[in-house]
Amino acid sequence: MSTAAAYAVSAPDGHFEKLAIERRDLGPNDVLIDVKYAGICHSDIHTARDEWGGARYPCVPGHEIAGLVAAVGSAVTKHAVGDRVGVGCMVDSCGKCEPCLAGEEQYCIPGATMTYNTAVAPELQSNGYTMGGYSTQVVVTEGFVVGIPEGIGLDVAAPLLCAGVTLFSPLRHWNAGPGKKVAIIGMGGLGHVGVKIAAAMGAEVTVLSHSLSKQEDGKRFGAHHYYATSDKQTFRELRGKFDLILNTVSADLPIDDYLRLLALDGTLVILGLPEKPLQVKPFTIAGYRRSLAGSMIGGIAQTQEMLNFCAEHGIGAEIEVISADRIDEAYDRVVASDVRYRFVIDTATM
Ligand code: NAP
Ligand code: ZN
Ligand code: ZN
Repeated sequence: MSTAAAYAVSAPDGHFEKLAIERRDLGPNDVLIDVKYAGICHSDIHTARDEWGGARYPCVPGHEIAGLVAAVGSAVTKHAVGDRVGVGCMVDSCGKCEPCLAGEEQYCIPGATMTYNTAVAPELQSNGYTMGGYSTQVVVTEGFVVGIPEGIGLDVAAPLLCAGVTLFSPLRHWNAGPGKKVAIIGMGGLGHVGVKIAAAMGAEVTVLSHSLSKQEDGKRFGAHHYYATSDKQTFRELRGKFDLILNTVSADLPIDDYLRLLALDGTLVILGLPEKPLQVKPFTIAGYRRSLAGSMIGGIAQTQEMLNFCAEHGIGAEIEVISADRIDEAYDRVVASDVRYRFVIDTATM
């Protein structure tokens, strides 16, 4: 076992504090990573504050990890010491079920091992559950470690490991590209990279934000149109318009109002994960043969494809780098939608 510095909360209303945690000795297929940057995803906040239930404490969140390989196990072939690498939301899966065999490990039937808050054997993590990337080091099996191409800084790459692939995956699945009208609801951490990726894919991109305050940024990220959802006229003007709508909002929304913005055969994909059930009128779905769908991150191969795509198109997240002692403040600012557009922790400050 080795020891790493980490930042953890001990209760749903707790504050982040420095903690020494153990990382396992390297197995033959393991990679030890010196974490350089860890993004703050809204899912970290939902978990740390136990908004989804089932949080384990002390809780070390962090699933947008970018760093350098420090050591490799004897059988590792995919990565070498010094490589620039990333780890996203998963650190393992069964490898045998249909989704795993199809490279969709995030839909593993027995359940993927998430980067934090998943029960594991004590030989994998001595406290009995995974602990994430708000830490100086992590040990991850090589198949769940992806390469970060030269040309993207590790700091702006970190958020791509969750936010990037969470948007890239549904954009690819529902064929975003030239001739497709795509709307993105919410321009926060997920939404802003979604705008950049969808625009780079060639789609006509519209942002639906609760105000026009970030309009200039949205246009700079590649959006063609930008509307405020606080204005009722938006819903009249855009009725029946979009082929694909991606909802990244972390709070409850009147989904029927947004479903009505879909064109015939359009799809609205739920990405944001507030805790309350959705309310949808059957008539709204039946009309115009609309689909209401969901999507969860992306598989490992697709995560690599997304990083390569982002490197090729010069896409990184817009970030504010913070020291580890500012995580509490960053959480409050994310919840208040006061983030431009992702906080990233510099682990050198741990
Ligand atoms: P974020 O940075 O906080 O962005 C969420 C955005 O939603 C805000 O910037 C804001 O955009 C909008 N919003 C927030 N509160 C709102 C409200 N009360 N009414 C209307 N709009 C509001 O969060 P994130 O990190 O992007 O994550 C977003 C959600 O996705 C979270 O629930 C997270 O758990 C979930 N998530 C899901 C997956 C997945 O695989 N499906 C992966 C990662 C995260 P505007 O200011 O532009 O309106
Ligand atoms: Zn996330
Ligand atoms: Zn599986």
